[in-house]
Amino acid sequence: STQPHVTFHDGRSIPQIGLGVWQTPNDVAVDAVSTALKTGYRHIDTAAVYENEEGVGEGIRQSGVARGDIFLTTKVWNDDQGFDQTLRAMDASLKRLGTDYVDLYLIHWPSAYRGKYVETWQALVRLKQEGKARSIGVSNFEGTYIDELEAATGQLPVINQVQLHPRFQQRKLRARYEPKGIITESWSPLGQGKMLQDRTIADIAQRHGKSPAQVIIRWHIEEGLVVIPKSVTPSRIVENFDVFDFELSAEDKAAINGLDSETGRLGSDPLTAK
Ligand code: NAD
Repeated sequence: STQPHVTFHDGRSIPQIGLGVWQTPNDVAVDAVSTALKTGYRHIDTAAVYENEEGVGEGIRQSGVARGDIFLTTKVWNDDQGFDQTLRAMDASLKRLGTDYVDLYLIHWPSAYRGKYVETWQALVRLKQEGKARSIGVSNFEGTYIDELEAATGQLPVINQVQLHPRFQQRKLRARYEPKGIITESWSPLGQGKMLQDRTIADIAQRHGKSPAQVIIRWHIEEGLVVIPKSVTPSRIVENFDVFDFELSAEDKAAINGLDSETGRLGSDPLTAK
Protein backbone atom coordinates (compact mmCIF):
# COMPACT_ATOMS: atom_id res chain seq x y z
CA SER A 1 0.00 0.00 0.00
CA THR A 2 1.05 3.62 -0.44
CA GLN A 3 0.56 4.83 3.12
CA PRO A 4 3.54 6.70 4.58
CA HIS A 5 6.24 4.85 6.51
CA VAL A 6 9.21 6.08 8.50
CA THR A 7 12.54 4.27 8.39
CA PHE A 8 14.39 3.07 11.48
CA HIS A 9 18.16 3.24 11.99
CA ASP A 10 18.17 -0.60 11.78
CA GLY A 11 16.95 -0.37 8.16
CA ARG A 12 13.38 -1.51 8.80
CA SER A 13 10.35 0.74 8.49
CA ILE A 14 7.02 1.28 10.24
CA PRO A 15 3.67 2.46 8.83
CA GLN A 16 3.11 5.93 10.27
CA ILE A 17 -0.47 5.25 11.39
CA GLY A 18 -1.28 2.30 13.64
CA LEU A 19 -4.32 1.23 15.62
CA GLY A 20 -3.90 1.52 19.40
CA VAL A 21 -5.81 -1.05 21.46
CA TRP A 22 -5.34 0.04 25.08
CA GLN A 23 -8.42 -0.60 27.29
CA THR A 24 -9.87 -2.94 24.69
CA PRO A 25 -10.99 -6.37 25.92
CA ASN A 26 -10.13 -9.43 23.84
CA ASP A 27 -13.53 -9.84 22.18
CA VAL A 28 -13.66 -6.15 21.21
CA ALA A 29 -10.03 -6.21 20.02
CA VAL A 30 -10.83 -9.01 17.53
CA ASP A 31 -13.31 -6.79 15.70
CA ALA A 32 -11.34 -3.53 16.03
CA VAL A 33 -8.16 -5.09 14.64
CA SER A 34 -9.95 -6.89 11.86
CA THR A 35 -11.87 -3.71 10.89
CA ALA A 36 -8.67 -1.66 10.89
CA LEU A 37 -6.79 -4.12 8.70
CA LYS A 38 -9.69 -4.32 6.24
CA THR A 39 -9.67 -0.48 6.17
CA GLY A 40 -6.01 -0.38 5.17
CA TYR A 41 -4.15 -0.07 8.47
CA ARG A 42 -1.06 -2.28 8.52
CA HIS A 43 0.16 -1.51 12.04
CA ILE A 44 -1.27 -2.57 15.43
CA ASP A 45 -0.01 -1.42 18.85
CA THR A 46 -0.70 -3.67 21.85
CA ALA A 47 1.08 -4.61 25.10
CA ALA A 48 1.14 -7.57 27.46
CA VAL A 49 -0.50 -5.45 30.17
CA TYR A 50 -3.47 -4.62 27.90
CA GLU A 51 -4.45 -8.30 28.30
CA ASN A 52 -5.73 -8.47 24.72
CA GLU A 53 -2.89 -10.10 22.81
CA GLU A 54 -5.11 -13.15 22.10
CA GLY A 55 -7.81 -10.88 20.64
CA VAL A 56 -5.26 -8.98 18.56
CA GLY A 57 -3.89 -12.25 17.16
CA GLU A 58 -7.39 -13.48 16.37
CA GLY A 59 -8.28 -10.15 14.69
CA ILE A 60 -5.21 -10.45 12.48
CA ARG A 61 -6.20 -13.96 11.43
CA GLN A 62 -9.84 -12.98 10.82
CA SER A 63 -8.85 -9.98 8.68
CA GLY A 64 -7.42 -12.16 5.94
CA VAL A 65 -4.39 -9.85 5.68
CA ALA A 66 -1.13 -11.81 5.61
CA ARG A 67 0.91 -11.66 8.82
CA GLY A 68 3.95 -10.60 6.79
CA ASP A 69 2.12 -7.48 5.60
CA ILE A 70 1.33 -6.34 9.15
CA PHE A 71 3.54 -4.40 11.57
CA LEU A 72 2.81 -5.70 15.08
CA THR A 73 4.09 -4.08 18.28
CA THR A 74 3.88 -5.40 21.82
CA LYS A 75 5.59 -4.38 25.08
CA VAL A 76 7.17 -6.01 28.12
CA TRP A 77 5.38 -4.98 31.32
CA ASN A 78 7.20 -3.56 34.34
CA ASP A 79 6.95 -6.62 36.57
CA ASP A 80 8.54 -8.75 33.84
CA GLN A 81 11.67 -6.60 33.68
CA GLY A 82 15.03 -8.36 34.10
CA PHE A 83 16.99 -10.43 31.58
CA ASP A 84 15.51 -13.92 31.99
CA GLN A 85 12.04 -12.69 32.86
CA THR A 86 11.89 -10.56 29.73
CA LEU A 87 12.89 -13.50 27.52
CA ARG A 88 10.07 -15.51 29.12
CA ALA A 89 7.60 -12.62 28.81
CA MET A 90 8.34 -12.42 25.08
CA ASP A 91 7.64 -16.13 24.60
CA ALA A 92 4.36 -15.74 26.49
CA SER A 93 3.35 -12.75 24.33
CA LEU A 94 4.19 -14.61 21.11
CA LYS A 95 2.12 -17.56 22.26
CA ARG A 96 -0.89 -15.36 23.06
CA LEU A 97 -0.54 -13.48 19.76
CA GLY A 98 -0.21 -16.73 17.83
CA THR A 99 2.85 -15.60 15.90
CA ASP A 100 6.56 -16.41 16.04
CA TYR A 101 7.83 -12.82 15.89
CA VAL A 102 6.79 -9.24 16.52
CA ASP A 103 7.91 -6.36 14.37
CA LEU A 104 8.66 -4.20 17.39
CA TYR A 105 9.18 -5.06 21.05
CA LEU A 106 9.22 -2.16 23.53
CA ILE A 107 10.15 -1.75 27.18
CA HIS A 108 6.79 -0.34 28.28
CA TRP A 109 8.09 2.01 31.04
CA PRO A 110 11.53 2.53 32.58
CA SER A 111 10.06 1.77 36.03
CA ALA A 112 13.34 3.16 37.31
CA TYR A 113 12.90 2.22 40.97
CA ARG A 114 13.33 -1.44 39.97
CA GLY A 115 16.78 -0.68 38.54
CA LYS A 116 16.29 -3.26 35.77
CA TYR A 117 15.84 -1.37 32.53
CA VAL A 118 19.43 -1.93 31.37
CA GLU A 119 19.27 -5.72 31.75
CA THR A 120 15.81 -5.66 30.20
CA TRP A 121 17.32 -3.82 27.22
CA GLN A 122 20.07 -6.47 27.02
CA ALA A 123 17.29 -9.08 26.73
CA LEU A 124 15.71 -7.11 23.89
CA VAL A 125 19.07 -7.02 22.09
CA ARG A 126 19.15 -10.84 22.43
CA LEU A 127 15.55 -11.14 21.16
CA LYS A 128 16.45 -9.14 18.07
CA GLN A 129 19.44 -11.43 17.42
CA GLU A 130 17.11 -14.43 17.76
CA GLY A 131 14.61 -12.89 15.33
CA LYS A 132 11.72 -12.91 17.81
CA ALA A 133 11.68 -9.10 17.61
CA ARG A 134 12.53 -7.61 14.23
CA SER A 135 13.18 -4.21 15.85
CA ILE A 136 13.54 -3.12 19.47
CA GLY A 137 12.66 0.11 21.20
CA VAL A 138 11.42 1.78 24.36
CA SER A 139 8.41 3.62 25.68
CA ASN A 140 8.19 6.42 28.23
CA PHE A 141 11.98 6.81 28.28
CA GLU A 142 11.91 10.51 29.05
CA GLY A 143 14.85 12.23 30.70
CA THR A 144 18.17 10.56 29.84
CA TYR A 145 17.47 6.85 30.38
CA ILE A 146 18.23 6.14 26.71
CA ASP A 147 21.82 7.34 27.23
CA GLU A 148 22.29 4.63 29.86
CA LEU A 149 21.10 1.95 27.45
CA GLU A 150 23.53 3.17 24.82
CA ALA A 151 26.42 3.33 27.30
CA ALA A 152 25.76 -0.24 28.49
CA THR A 153 25.14 -1.95 25.14
CA GLY A 154 26.15 0.38 22.32
CA GLN A 155 22.61 -0.14 20.98
CA LEU A 156 20.08 2.63 20.57
CA PRO A 157 16.33 1.94 20.47
CA VAL A 158 14.78 2.53 17.04
CA ILE A 159 11.81 4.32 18.58
CA ASN A 160 10.61 5.94 21.79
CA GLN A 161 6.83 5.79 22.28
CA VAL A 162 5.81 8.67 24.56
CA GLN A 163 2.76 10.71 25.42
CA LEU A 164 2.51 13.30 22.65
CA HIS A 165 -0.38 15.44 21.44
CA PRO A 166 -0.86 19.11 20.51
CA ARG A 167 -1.06 20.13 24.18
CA PHE A 168 2.10 18.15 25.08
CA GLN A 169 4.52 18.14 22.16
CA GLN A 170 7.72 16.77 23.76
CA ARG A 171 9.93 19.27 21.88
CA LYS A 172 12.90 18.92 24.27
CA LEU A 173 12.97 15.12 24.17
CA ARG A 174 12.62 15.11 20.37
CA ALA A 175 15.42 17.66 19.95
CA ARG A 176 17.69 15.46 22.04
CA TYR A 177 17.03 12.05 20.44
CA GLU A 178 15.75 12.54 16.89
CA PRO A 179 19.22 13.72 15.74
CA LYS A 180 20.52 10.32 16.94
CA GLY A 181 18.08 8.66 14.52
CA ILE A 182 15.50 7.63 17.11
CA ILE A 183 11.92 7.94 15.83
CA THR A 184 9.32 9.41 18.18
CA GLU A 185 5.94 7.68 18.43
CA SER A 186 2.89 9.45 19.89
CA TRP A 187 0.73 7.69 22.45
CA SER A 188 -2.59 9.26 23.40
CA PRO A 189 -2.18 11.26 20.16
CA LEU A 190 -5.69 12.72 20.53
CA GLY A 191 -5.07 13.54 24.19
CA GLN A 192 -7.33 10.59 25.04
CA GLY A 193 -10.02 12.33 23.03
CA LYS A 194 -9.79 15.52 25.11
CA MET A 195 -8.05 17.47 22.30
CA LEU A 196 -11.06 16.99 20.02
CA GLN A 197 -12.99 19.82 21.74
CA ASP A 198 -10.19 22.34 21.23
CA ARG A 199 -11.34 25.51 19.48
CA THR A 200 -8.16 26.00 17.40
CA ILE A 201 -8.36 22.42 16.14
CA ALA A 202 -12.07 22.72 15.39
CA ASP A 203 -11.51 25.89 13.31
CA ILE A 204 -8.79 24.23 11.24
CA ALA A 205 -10.96 21.15 10.78
CA GLN A 206 -13.86 23.22 9.54
CA ARG A 207 -11.67 25.04 6.99
CA HIS A 208 -10.44 21.73 5.53
CA GLY A 209 -13.80 19.95 5.69
CA LYS A 210 -12.21 17.32 7.93
CA SER A 211 -12.87 16.25 11.54
CA PRO A 212 -10.82 17.41 14.57
CA ALA A 213 -9.40 13.87 14.93
CA GLN A 214 -8.26 13.91 11.29
CA VAL A 215 -6.56 17.30 11.73
CA ILE A 216 -4.65 16.10 14.80
CA ILE A 217 -3.60 12.82 13.17
CA ARG A 218 -2.49 14.73 10.08
CA TRP A 219 -0.40 17.03 12.32
CA HIS A 220 1.41 14.01 13.84
CA ILE A 221 2.16 12.68 10.36
CA GLU A 222 3.48 15.98 9.07
CA GLU A 223 5.67 16.21 12.19
CA GLY A 224 7.32 12.91 11.15
CA LEU A 225 5.88 11.09 14.16
CA VAL A 226 4.38 7.61 14.30
CA VAL A 227 0.79 7.88 15.52
CA ILE A 228 -1.46 5.23 17.09
CA PRO A 229 -4.96 6.63 17.64
CA LYS A 230 -7.32 4.33 19.49
CA SER A 231 -10.92 3.63 18.56
CA VAL A 232 -13.12 0.54 18.64
CA THR A 233 -15.92 2.25 16.68
CA PRO A 234 -15.77 1.15 13.02
CA SER A 235 -16.71 4.58 11.59
CA ARG A 236 -13.98 6.25 13.67
CA ILE A 237 -11.40 3.63 12.76
CA VAL A 238 -12.13 4.47 9.12
CA GLU A 239 -12.17 8.25 9.80
CA ASN A 240 -8.81 8.17 11.58
CA PHE A 241 -7.16 6.57 8.55
CA ASP A 242 -8.74 8.98 6.03
CA VAL A 243 -6.05 11.65 6.35
CA PHE A 244 -4.16 11.38 3.09
CA ASP A 245 -6.26 13.78 0.97
CA PHE A 246 -5.32 17.10 2.59
CA GLU A 247 -2.36 19.02 3.98
CA LEU A 248 -2.05 21.50 6.82
CA SER A 249 -0.94 25.00 5.87
CA ALA A 250 2.00 26.73 7.55
CA GLU A 251 -0.55 28.82 9.48
CA ASP A 252 -2.43 25.70 10.63
CA LYS A 253 0.80 24.16 11.86
CA ALA A 254 1.88 27.32 13.65
CA ALA A 255 -1.50 27.50 15.39
CA ILE A 256 -1.29 23.85 16.52
CA ASN A 257 2.32 24.25 17.61
CA GLY A 258 1.12 27.14 19.76
CA LEU A 259 -1.08 24.81 21.82
CA ASP A 260 1.97 23.16 23.46
CA SER A 261 1.91 23.52 27.24
CA GLU A 262 4.18 22.62 30.17
CA THR A 263 1.09 21.41 32.00
CA GLY A 264 -0.39 19.39 29.14
CA ARG A 265 0.66 15.97 30.40
CA LEU A 266 -2.17 13.53 31.14
CA GLY A 267 -1.43 10.97 33.85
CA SER A 268 1.85 10.13 35.52
CA ASP A 269 5.39 11.33 34.80
CA PRO A 270 7.69 8.48 33.67
CA LEU A 271 10.55 9.91 35.72
CA THR A 272 8.65 9.14 38.93
CA ALA A 273 6.13 6.48 37.86
CA LYS A 274 6.44 3.02 39.39
P1 NAD B 1 -6.15 8.56 22.04
O1 NAD B 1 -5.49 9.85 22.22
O2 NAD B 1 -5.87 7.74 20.85
O3 NAD B 1 -7.71 8.82 22.20
C1 NAD B 1 -8.60 7.74 22.08
C2 NAD B 1 -10.02 8.20 22.39
O4 NAD B 1 -10.39 9.28 21.56
C3 NAD B 1 -11.02 7.09 22.07
O5 NAD B 1 -11.20 6.25 23.19
C4 NAD B 1 -12.26 7.87 21.71
O6 NAD B 1 -12.94 8.20 22.89
C5 NAD B 1 -11.71 9.10 21.08
N1 NAD B 1 -11.68 9.05 19.60
C6 NAD B 1 -10.82 8.36 18.81
N2 NAD B 1 -11.05 8.61 17.51
C7 NAD B 1 -12.09 9.47 17.47
C8 NAD B 1 -12.79 10.11 16.42
N3 NAD B 1 -12.46 9.92 15.15
N4 NAD B 1 -13.82 10.93 16.75
C9 NAD B 1 -14.15 11.17 18.04
N5 NAD B 1 -13.52 10.60 19.08
C10 NAD B 1 -12.50 9.75 18.80
O7 NAD B 1 -5.89 7.74 23.42
P2 NAD B 1 -5.19 6.43 23.92
O8 NAD B 1 -6.01 5.22 23.72
O9 NAD B 1 -4.78 6.76 25.31
O10 NAD B 1 -3.84 6.29 23.09
C11 NAD B 1 -3.76 5.58 21.87
C12 NAD B 1 -2.88 4.36 21.99
O11 NAD B 1 -1.59 4.70 22.51
C13 NAD B 1 -3.38 3.32 23.02
O12 NAD B 1 -4.47 2.58 22.56
C14 NAD B 1 -2.13 2.50 23.20
O13 NAD B 1 -1.95 1.61 22.11
C15 NAD B 1 -1.07 3.59 23.22
N6 NAD B 1 -0.69 4.01 24.59
C16 NAD B 1 0.54 3.69 25.05
C17 NAD B 1 0.94 4.06 26.32
C18 NAD B 1 2.31 3.70 26.77
O14 NAD B 1 2.60 3.84 27.98
N7 NAD B 1 3.19 3.25 25.91
C19 NAD B 1 0.06 4.77 27.17
C20 NAD B 1 -1.20 5.10 26.68
C21 NAD B 1 -1.56 4.73 25.39
